[in-house]
Amino acid sequence: MAKAILIVFGPPGSGKDTQINLLLQKTGWKKISTGELLRAESVLKSKLGKQAKKCMDAGDLVLNKLLINLVIKKLKQKAKGFIFDGYPRNHGQLKDLLNMFKKYLKKSDKVLALLIDVSDKEVKQRLSQRRVCACGEVYHLKYNQPTSKNVCNICRKKLFIRDDDKPKIIAHRLKIYRKNNKPIFDYWRNIGKLIKINGEQSIDKIHKDLIIELRKNEILEK
Ligand code: AMP
Repeated sequence: MAKAILIVFGPPGSGKDTQINLLLQKTGWKKISTGELLRAESVLKSKLGKQAKKCMDAGDLVLNKLLINLVIKKLKQKAKGFIFDGYPRNHGQLKDLLNMFKKYLKKSDKVLALLIDVSDKEVKQRLSQRRVCACGEVYHLKYNQPTSKNVCNICRKKLFIRDDDKPKIIAHRLKIYRKNNKPIFDYWRNIGKLIKINGEQSIDKIHKDLIIELRKNEILEK
């Protein structure tokens, strides 16, 4: 049976994780998240994990060549489909991925790239209103407020703003995101395999739009 490969992109704060989780539940496909794979290696304290941790702690990208075998190992697993999250993140990784597809996918497998589109203005607004707790709970001052102002509902600790959600850092993250992804989007657009979904809608509406597009592109059965 043909496999489905969906490569998901979206700026920070686009709701990409939420949409990926909804899709995983619906399809039973497997996720390939390089961030998660690297964190797991880092916890294991493998040679690769130790190398990667330094870059991750500094907020830098991990070297492309360190990622290839991690991704291949996942891609070789048995699955009806895969959702790529956080990979490829630059032009070199796109080239690596296309080589992997040549080697490990069949001609009949269906590959599609998905962009959850959110404007810089909206991203800045969303992230600047995000508040987190040391226990891991995440709030939003508009969409998911804590019951008492600035206090976690679960553990009652004081909420704070993540360092990388501060305005200057958000602007920097967005600049890098746009610059690194441009050639990647251009590639998928030029071969007619980029679908763009308006990410400035409710979670439910985005999910529905997404399903319609996946069916239209015959990557998901009707
Ligand atoms: P994420 O969970 O996707 O935000 O990734 C967390 C961190 O892992 C990033 O800040 C990078 O340091 C590293 N990372 C994840 N995916 C990649 C990738 N495709 N290329 C390089 N570094 C990555």
